[in-house]
Amino acid sequence: MRLVNGSRVVIVGGGPAGSFAALHLLRFAAEAGLRLEVIILEARDFNRPGPGGCNKCAGILSSTLIHNLQTFGLDLPPDVIQSELNAYVLHLDGSRLPIHRPDPARRNVSIYRGGGPRLGGPPFPHSFDGWLLDQARARGAGVRRERVRVVRPGLRPAVVTAHEGLEADLVVLATGVNSRAPLDPAWGYRPPRTEIMAQDEVPLPGGLLEGNVHIFFDYPPGLIFAGLIPKGRYANISLLGRKLPPDAVGDFLEGHDLTALFPDGTPALCGCTPRVAVSAAHGYYADRLVVVGDAAITRLYKDGIGAAFVTAEAAARTAIERGIGRKDFAAGYGPICRRIAADNLYGRWLFRMWAITRQAPLLLSAWRRAIVTEAGLPPMKQIHTRILWSMFTGDESYRQIFRLSISRTALWGWGRGMVHVWKNQ
Ligand SMILES: Cc1cc2nc3c(=O)[nH]c(=O)nc-3n(C[C@H](O)[C@H](O)[C@H](O)COP(=O)(O)OP(=O)(O)OC[C@H]3O[C@@H](n4cnc5c(N)ncnc54)[C@H](O)[C@@H]3O)c2cc1C
Repeated sequence: MRLVNGSRVVIVGGGPAGSFAALHLLRFAAEAGLRLEVIILEARDFNRPGPGGCNKCAGILSSTLIHNLQTFGLDLPPDVIQSELNAYVLHLDGSRLPIHRPDPARRNVSIYRGGGPRLGGPPFPHSFDGWLLDQARARGAGVRRERVRVVRPGLRPAVVTAHEGLEADLVVLATGVNSRAPLDPAWGYRPPRTEIMAQDEVPLPGGLLEGNVHIFFDYPPGLIFAGLIPKGRYANISLLGRKLPPDAVGDFLEGHDLTALFPDGTPALCGCTPRVAVSAAHGYYADRLVVVGDAAITRLYKDGIGAAFVTAEAAARTAIERGIGRKDFAAGYGPICRRIAADNLYGRWLFRMWAITRQAPLLLSAWRRAIVTEAGLPPMKQIHTRILWSMFTGDESYRQIFRLSISRTALWGWGRGMVHVWKNQ
């Protein structure tokens, strides 16, 4: 089973994973001298402000993703970038621990997925997802504003919308985890497990942000961490946790004494409770079908857009270089997804260790001391800073962060921090 000249690939969903799949397919096909018809069917209009035009996320791009985009010849336009993020400030027991970007050569930025907050006024931000879809269109993909009702298996799978039925040689499913995957049960696909998050968009509070992301822990119950993220004229409040209470954002602001940032009351301009994927899907490839992005697997809690790039690239490479049968995807695509799943195990361990450290004042003070001591060193040698920076930005794999955290330099720095804290108790 192979794609040949004139084969039709239908991509269901035009979020990052769908656009990346189109871009990678068109590039690998051109390199192989293959002419494909690539059609993206996307239900949303990303120019619309509010949840209707938005794929609902905090909107931080990792430096790895920005590097991958550049390598692909995709330079983020200035009006897509909302803020450059230079430091993460961790709020721990009433004090602040600033973590500065260890490597000034690497960038992290915030973006809007849609047309900005529902109650925001003009000028409206330029949507990242909209820009990416335009890049796919400019490189030869056909883009149609359609919601797919069902994808049926067959000799040539049928993709059915309210207006048409399209036969495809290959279907790429990129519908994320915030809508039902429109796959006929005969495909045997089971979506990833998800958890429900909470987000609000507010006007940018003066003073606190200035290119810094603020991270909070502990409250409300179930919170893993919360971020206050500058996005141009606005700020995003994102709560990541398990079984968060109904008014989690309100509880969070009150519990951390942040209501004073908004003297006229908390003016939520937009809000949503999106799902985040926390496991891999089952049955995410079959003959003439491959699932990419969140709907297949993503990185735990971080860099989901970066993971969409990686899965879309691996699926497209397999389709062009190996073939489009189940066995081809099992051999070419499966290992990449399993690598992400294995990396997430390290991520779970790291977040658990971090939770333990936060509860142990001595460990936390030792870490704080280690970070202060290494501040003057070259970026690559600022081990503790890199560990925390990468955990919160997704700039390095969890496996790399794990290795760093058990390296001799890290343990030595921690040990010295411990001695210092003991002596000064
Ligand atoms: C609270 C929260 C914060 C996050 N913060 C970040 C962050 O800061 N950085 C980061 O990198 N990641 C973040 N993520 C993860 C990120 O949002 C996802 O990993 C990313 O959006 C996955 O892209 P995707 O294309 O797979 O899915 P999506 O972005 O969900 O796109 C799916 C697309 O498919 C379309 N679609 C769905 N069904 C149909 C249908 N039947 N027919 C046609 N079209 C359809 C949808 O309209 C949508 O455009 C966050 C997630 C959450 C929940």
